[in-house]
Amino acid sequence: MSDTEVIIGLEVHIQLTNLKTKLFCSCNSDYRGKEQNTIVCPICLGLPGSLPVINENAIGYATRLALALDCKINEEFWFFRKNYFYPDLPKAFQISQYNKAGGKAFGDGGHITIRLDGEKKEISLDRIHLEEDPARLVHKGSIASSPYTLVDYNRSGMTLIEIVTNPVMKSPEEARDFLNQLKSIVQYTGIADLDLEGSVRVDANISIKGNPRSEVKNINSFKEVERALKWEIQRQRNALKRGKELIQETRHWDDKRRVTIGLRTKEFEKDYRYFPEQDLVPINIDKKFIEEVKKELPEMPNARMKRFQEQYQLSEFDSEILVLDKNLADFFEKGVQQNKSFGLDDYKTYCNWLMGDISRWLNDNNKNINDSKLKSNQLNELIMNINDGKITGKIAKGFVDEMMKGNSISDIIKKSGKKRIADEATLYKIVEEVLKENLDIVKDYNGNPRALEALIGKCMQKTRGQADPNVTRNLIKKKIQ
Ligand code: ZN
Ligand code: MN
Repeated sequence: MSDTEVIIGLEVHIQLTNLKTKLFCSCNSDYRGKEQNTIVCPICLGLPGSLPVINENAIGYATRLALALDCKINEEFWFFRKNYFYPDLPKAFQISQYNKAGGKAFGDGGHITIRLDGEKKEISLDRIHLEEDPARLVHKGSIASSPYTLVDYNRSGMTLIEIVTNPVMKSPEEARDFLNQLKSIVQYTGIADLDLEGSVRVDANISIKGNPRSEVKNINSFKEVERALKWEIQRQRNALKRGKELIQETRHWDDKRRVTIGLRTKEFEKDYRYFPEQDLVPINIDKKFIEEVKKELPEMPNARMKRFQEQYQLSEFDSEILVLDKNLADFFEKGVQQNKSFGLDDYKTYCNWLMGDISRWLNDNNKNINDSKLKSNQLNELIMNINDGKITGKIAKGFVDEMMKGNSISDIIKKSGKKRIADEATLYKIVEEVLKENLDIVKDYNGNPRALEALIGKCMQKTRGQADPNVTRNLIKKKIQ
């Protein structure tokens, strides 16, 4: 099937939202929710005669990311002008980096490990570079049907890092995992909060092997990237099937109609007339600076994942998922270290709760663990109550919503009136009733291993989750035999 092989390369623009000021001026970089066109100055408006000055912290942040991604940092480089005319770009050029004509990117190479269905794959990077963000264009409805365009220059001059991968991804799923891993690494470096609206924009290059590629521009979220890729692959395959020739072109992802639309046949690099930005001095990064940044870099997800396997004896799978969200992993470590009586089994239980019921609740409520009211001592208390036999795991699952609202575990238990039932005499009566009512399942008992689980489930139903599963299991076995 090599003639239908998919080739995907990504260009990911990340806004360094944790910087206090823009890339070449001292305007506040916290522009979200502010009145349009109020956070601007002659530099980021591109007024004639204004001169850019590099933000030193942006160099520090770029260094952090380069180290985290294993890029080779270019210790001397200068900025270039990338020329094009568009309403979001008042100077008619974007200050960027260029890795040709004597220019250099910020960092070359590097890689991110993705894991799909238990298999590891290295996604190699071509380069990362710094550039300024253009202004924000606001369309009424969709870009194709809007009768006018509004421009908000508050975003103009924000710091972007562009991460360019090699064209080595083979499916939308690989691209999605790449982006999730990248987001995680960015979170660990502390340079940006990619949950902020508009903080990440992806251009995706897609082709079917042997054919020209199309570039889908400005996809605004990771979820949309996967959708756009799937749609575009299907479009290209259909065109080839009908004997149509594909062309190299730039397309737009319309996330309302969920289709890509041809915008223009691909501009070529020479159209940008790259040339050195003479208004900025060359940047020199010395080894000492790099060493200092390296020292301050926190433990990265890959290293943390290995440590979680050793220190807490979590499986590779568990540690990988837990570590992906730094906040969740921090919560885990704080929680298990709070309780000195916790052992290996409890680490696993703690991890299960975070990855299962709690993550589900956070997803459903569109929240991060840090902006929920859950405290680690609550989860500790919940697990201790299960361990002490006061409640069953089944009862505890019913408490998640209350717990996430910050209510104390003892209050939740008291209010619910639920407790574990382990008394054999009480349970024996319930087991007898259940067996009588479910003769068909009992008949199945010898041939079907799932019959026992089904009977335990019925006992749970009858006791509203309060029956101790182990005691119940033994009683059913005894009674049937
Ligand atoms: Zn400014
Ligand atoms: Mn770019």
